[in-house]
Amino acid sequence: MNEYIARVLERLERLYPNEPEYLQCVRAWLDMIAPAVDRPEYERLDVLSRMVEPERMFSFLVPWQDDQGATHTNHGYRVQFSSAIGPYKGGLRFHPSVTASVVKFLGFEQTYKNALTGLPIGGAAGGADFDPRGRSNREIMRFCQSFMFNLYRYIGSDTDVPAGDIGVGVREIGYLYGAYKRVTGRAESSALTGKGLTYGGSKIRQAAAGFGTVYFLARMLEHQGEELAGKRIAISGFGNMSWGVCRKAAELGGRVVTLSGPDGYVYDPDGVVTQEKFDFVRDLRSSGLDRVEPYAEKFGVTFYPGKKPWEAPVDIVIPCAAENEITVDDAVLILANGVRYYVEAANMPASADALKLLRLSPKILTAGAKAAGSGGVAVSALEMVQNSLRYSWSRREVDEKLRGIMSSIYDASAAAAEEYGLGYDLIAGNDIAAFKKISEAMIAQGL
Ligand code: GLU
Repeated sequence: MNEYIARVLERLERLYPNEPEYLQCVRAWLDMIAPAVDRPEYERLDVLSRMVEPERMFSFLVPWQDDQGATHTNHGYRVQFSSAIGPYKGGLRFHPSVTASVVKFLGFEQTYKNALTGLPIGGAAGGADFDPRGRSNREIMRFCQSFMFNLYRYIGSDTDVPAGDIGVGVREIGYLYGAYKRVTGRAESSALTGKGLTYGGSKIRQAAAGFGTVYFLARMLEHQGEELAGKRIAISGFGNMSWGVCRKAAELGGRVVTLSGPDGYVYDPDGVVTQEKFDFVRDLRSSGLDRVEPYAEKFGVTFYPGKKPWEAPVDIVIPCAAENEITVDDAVLILANGVRYYVEAANMPASADALKLLRLSPKILTAGAKAAGSGGVAVSALEMVQNSLRYSWSRREVDEKLRGIMSSIYDASAAAAEEYGLGYDLIAGNDIAAFKKISEAMIAQGL
């Protein structure tokens, strides 16, 4: 690592010693881009320090009342990470694990995810340490309204455009958008994305992250002279991301054989490939139960309580749930099972050591979330385009555009890896290509 990079990292570690997720993602990124930090102006203009810290960040109280009249007080956050190539853009996560460190890590990743979509969007993230599990619709609505009353001043279609993430789906976006509209008095549709189809949402948005990951994977397979047909895939989670992966993989002849939740995982050897199964998974998620076992009961397959799906015998692994769900032991298991492709849909799903193990193994090809996981935000950006055109594209049109975007992210990643002599390292390639683009925009716009 060169001296300048070491200094940037030291400073960050000194400033934020208690923010493990944030430091983890920055460390990994600095490692990846090191070969491309090759111009004196990066240091002269201190580009790296300006890239690893958010331009602005704030937190706010979110007081709300439950159905029994008891008052709860949660913490809301928004981190406006980078506006180098467009308005801040990124999701909101409602989950008890949300902290300043988590939103900073998400905002950082989002900036690099967004950069190569080809659409002019900067990076952001936010959320609250609120647990939506078991809450009624009315409680969710009150929470979203309170959240938005504190956030609305700082967002807008040319400023910062929030969307969903874990715990924030189309229902929550609806309540957030309704509150934004009421308080500002403007039907400014592209102030939020992930909206419902009747009021400015884009077709495919809910499934886009999963679809995009499979399109990216398809390019990797093509590079190896293979196809998805007949391949078995292990995934984690059973939310939007997982659903989209199941659907698109099935369409291309592949077979997702696992789903997981906090209670364990199910193994379905026939694959989640029928409409009945897709519908069941969607209903299971929206039931708010957060358990995947009912899938096993319904379709007569095995449920493994308390276990992770990485022990299943498959060809491809796609983590779709949350950060750090793959440990070194899991990575060892994945390699021992002869898995050939590891493609991240969720943000930073592997620990630093687990990712190192997978990335450096010649037996498996790897792609990171900043590339393969960017389909969701890509369609969010397409939603903004449709809103400003006052128009709505067909499913086929959006799907085709998404496929094109994923393909160009793949091409940019492969080309950058090649250019820096890194072979087929798509993770480093993607980080480098995004770094080049963002730093160029920053330098062009001055200090
Ligand atoms: N958290 C989501 C993601 O990257 C949503 C971002 C957005 O649509 O703005 O995937």
